[in-house]
Amino acid sequence: MDEIRIENLEVYACHGVYLEENRSGQPFFVNLILYTDIKEAASKDELSLSTNYGEVCHFITEWMQEHTYKLIETVAERLAAAILLKYELVKEVDLEVRKPKAPIGLPFGCVSVHIKRGWHQVYLSVGSNMGNRQGYIEDAVAALEKDTRIKGLTVSELLVTKPYGGVEQEDFLNGAISLRTLLSPKELLEELHRIEAAADRRREIHWGPRTLDLDIIFYDKLVYEDERLIIPHVDMENRYFVLKPLCELAPNYRHPILKKTVNRLLQELGNAE
Ligand code: ADP
Ligand code: MG
Repeated sequence: MDEIRIENLEVYACHGVYLEENRSGQPFFVNLILYTDIKEAASKDELSLSTNYGEVCHFITEWMQEHTYKLIETVAERLAAAILLKYELVKEVDLEVRKPKAPIGLPFGCVSVHIKRGWHQVYLSVGSNMGNRQGYIEDAVAALEKDTRIKGLTVSELLVTKPYGGVEQEDFLNGAISLRTLLSPKELLEELHRIEAAADRRREIHWGPRTLDLDIIFYDKLVYEDERLIIPHVDMENRYFVLKPLCELAPNYRHPILKKTVNRLLQELGNAE
């Protein structure tokens, strides 16, 4: 992707652990790379089709002076999110916050925090087979839409499917959700668990009845595994109720391990519910 760079923007601000730092302030230096597509702006020579770096510099300065945080980690994290939320053409940022006058009491060049943050394309599956199934799903969608760190949410049609895993229970209502988010996979899973808990979800029988189930199917092309989270979802290729609605939103999305599109996975599974 193309880059717009800002180097050594100097901002006098009050971030620091010590009271004295919060009172008198000190200089900070910001290095920023905006990842964006400049092609159209360049070919038309039109500023409104690009991101105005001057405006970004003023935004950073005002933002850093309006807020006071103890840690430059927090400054970097929140400033990166603020930039990504404000400038829609920016897909990713590389941000360094430098603090050359940090009160360390030893001779040193500079201390800094350097992070990379951006928007991620995510596909979720959603299901319910207890009580007001459609209501639970609609509430989950509303909760996701309310989160400012989530954008561009689309929901597939909902379909009725037979339960999976051999436990005797009501039919499911299933769907897929596409969204863009600033949340990390772990933060997103926590958010999904919060939404499930708000829908009275109790984790009792594995594969048993539930008011709401929200699973992460794909997160960009990420392949990830720890004891609490596996991406892509480990069993998605065997689940008609995942593939069918997902195919409506992303038929050509390619599974990063199986190297097959959603459409192909659905065809191979057949119509077995
Ligand atoms: P399932 O969704 O398989 O029917 P649960 O909703 O009860 O079962 O999830 C069990 C656990 O699976 C969750 O606590 C979560 O930590 C873990 N998990 C692993 N990978 C994922 C994923 N991709 N999306 C959602 N949960 C996941
Ligand atoms: Mg689940």
